[in-house]
Amino acid sequence: MTNVTVFKPGAEITIDDADCIGCRKCVEVCPEDVYTLERRPGETDPNREFKSVAVAPEKCILCLSCLEICAKDAIFIYGKQ
Ligand code: SF4
Ligand code: SF4
Repeated sequence: MTNVTVFKPGAEITIDDADCIGCRKCVEVCPEDVYTLERRPGETDPNREFKSVAVAPEKCILCLSCLEICAKDAIFIYGKQ
């Protein structure tokens, strides 16, 4: 009997809204297009105009590139394996 583990993509991803500065690095580094930038409605600080949102966490392959590149440590990922 063979023991085969099939990897299924998907993770729970949260982004700390207080820390995210919308630098876009996670959007650019993610190979699975998990993230997109959204405008913060009513935000008057030009440095906080955008934030990252995990729009497709079900596609995450847990490569952890986004965690490594986020200078603000704003991303938290919980694998579902
Ligand atoms: S890399 Fe970090 S700070 Fe930059 S947009 Fe993504 S979550 Fe926000
Ligand atoms: S761990 Fe990799 S696949 Fe998952 S959201 Fe981050 S960069 Fe994308």
